[in-house]
Amino acid sequence: MASDEFDIIRRHFNQKGLAFAKSSVMLGIGDDCALLAADSSQQLAISMDLLQEGVHFLSDADPFLLGQRTLLVNLSDLAAMGAEPLCFTLGVSIPKADELWLERFSAGLAVVAQAHDCPLVGGDLTAAHPEHGTITLCVQVHGQRPAGAGMLRSGARPGDLVYVTGTLGDAAAGLAVLQGRLPVGASPARDGFSPESIAGRPAPTEFEAALISAFYQPESRVACGMALRGLASAAIDISDGLASDLGHILRGSGVSAAIDTEALPTSAAFRALVPEAARLSLVLGGGDDYELCFTVSNDDVPQLERQLSATGTAATCIGRIESGSGPIRWLSKGEEIALQVQGYNHFAPQQLTQERT
Ligand code: ADP
Ligand code: MG
Repeated sequence: MASDEFDIIRRHFNQKGLAFAKSSVMLGIGDDCALLAADSSQQLAISMDLLQEGVHFLSDADPFLLGQRTLLVNLSDLAAMGAEPLCFTLGVSIPKADELWLERFSAGLAVVAQAHDCPLVGGDLTAAHPEHGTITLCVQVHGQRPAGAGMLRSGARPGDLVYVTGTLGDAAAGLAVLQGRLPVGASPARDGFSPESIAGRPAPTEFEAALISAFYQPESRVACGMALRGLASAAIDISDGLASDLGHILRGSGVSAAIDTEALPTSAAFRALVPEAARLSLVLGGGDDYELCFTVSNDDVPQLERQLSATGTAATCIGRIESGSGPIRWLSKGEEIALQVQGYNHFAPQQLTQERT
């Protein structure tokens, strides 16, 4: 069915599964602005993420999974600030009005929106160039948190312990599976397959599926982030790889850190499919983990453990903040090792090298 801009908005975005009512949303989609009730005891937390076809997702990505990922990666920023999701706005630029794509994309968004009580309240829709245009998706999430929640990148202090939630490297390995780079020796014919487009190709194994799911459906750490309010001295979500993102905390706080490479948490699927020599570069520089990295004072560890178990979050202590402003000291069996890891950086030449000396 051919549809114009307003049909698309009405059918796919202003629908009850996605633009649902919420008491703090006074007015949602349909006017020039959405109107939210302002709560003076709270700080607004606002963050935006752009996802570009060919850069952040593969052209044949399953739109349902892509919808989930688009909102989850934004919620991850709220999690890193201890903010509770309020609502989100959405910018969509697409070369053609593909009804099936739009239906599945908005259904994927709706699953995550409902799980986090985070309705869609507005946005914009444009046609990209019909031949040269690619899909661009942009979400702005709006959340709130009480004043004094801390968790800024500038809050880490020497002696604080460094933690990460979940496991690292799974999403980067999942992308490698989708691109046919993993398992090693996989047929290049698997290039770019998504779970939706594997007809005629071998179905992903359980381990492959677990890694693909880590890429498209990163674990949401919103509840964990809220439980870390006033407890984590600093926090960040890991989007570009631990080395790069922990580096932001260190620079923001004017400190350094010693990280035990043997303590870095990995999943059974990751260890089964990624050859040992490639593991550390995916764990430290692969990116797309959307786990939280946070620091906490030694004295607060008992309270941290209570909060983590109350929210059912697995987190691992991987090292300690040190004074000084040097680079991260990577340790293996107590000895310092030399590593060169670069996270994802859009305007830098991609380098991912690892040298053990
Ligand atoms: P304006 O001309 O004021 O920018 P539009 O005509 O672009 O408004 O959009 C009409 C309404 O639909 C607005 O309320 C806008 O927020 C909403 N809207 C447009 N695109 C989207 C989208 N992709 N998702 C959700 N709401 C949207
Ligand atoms: Mg507009």
